[in-house]
Amino acid sequence: MRTRPTPTPRLTLAAMTALTLLTTTLTGCAQSVDPIERLGKKAATRVNPPAQAPYHRWGLTTPLPAAPPHPAPRPLPGTPDTPALTPVLTTIPTTDKVVFLTYDDGAERDPRFVDMVRELRLPVSLFLTDTVVGPGYGHFARLQSVGANIQNHTLDHPALRGLPYPGQRAEICGQQDKLRSRFGRRPHLFRPPYGTYDITTRRAAADCGITAIILWRAAMGPTHLTYTQGSPHLHPGDIIAVAPDETTPPGLRTRTARLLRQIQKQGLTVARLEDYV
Ligand SMILES: [Zn+2]
Repeated sequence: MRTRPTPTPRLTLAAMTALTLLTTTLTGCAQSVDPIERLGKKAATRVNPPAQAPYHRWGLTTPLPAAPPHPAPRPLPGTPDTPALTPVLTTIPTTDKVVFLTYDDGAERDPRFVDMVRELRLPVSLFLTDTVVGPGYGHFARLQSVGANIQNHTLDHPALRGLPYPGQRAEICGQQDKLRSRFGRRPHLFRPPYGTYDITTRRAAADCGITAIILWRAAMGPTHLTYTQGSPHLHPGDIIAVAPDETTPPGLRTRTARLLRQIQKQGLTVARLEDYV
């Protein structure tokens, strides 16, 4: 006798299909309300506060404009009376709206100044005296690695004017050798201590491979600029000495920030001295 199939298997199949659908739906729901996912969605829609721009961190209200591209080489002013004399510069002849930042001696070794130079991409030239820098060459190697240029400021920081040729030559050439061994490159710029020099200095500098003696037209003190000659405003091409031979407060960072604000106020920016001379 044939028996009719019981509905149980069909019901069971239907039930299982429904259960599967339900499970899938539930699983889908469960996934969509997963707390980790919800957290992720929440994090993705959260508005992060804008990171503070470097120029703002260092006390400027607007970024420093980029300096013009590398200028074409130009003949140096103050053409030497004879090729054996190094020219002396207080400004660089240019119509670019740029000035140049120079620092002497290397007495202050503030690690945060390295951060400032790096974050602002500040082109600076550092004139170093061996006996002042002492064991601090590592600090200046870090500055060099973030873009600073290292130049010559004698071995012992004497006033060179009036000294005999051998003594002047020893001061300049000796520091050329020291800086080459420390930084891998012989400087081509020289700043005489206290800005004093004579014709012997120019001859000795030339003999040591120096192509320009770099003085300054403006000097940045604790709060403001002073000028060695000409009008009391910054002009394109001015060389600025920041706190020459001083270690009194405020420190380099504060002085530099104040100086940068003054440079910006006069519609100028900072360029790399070594791109121009
Ligand atoms: Zn000095």
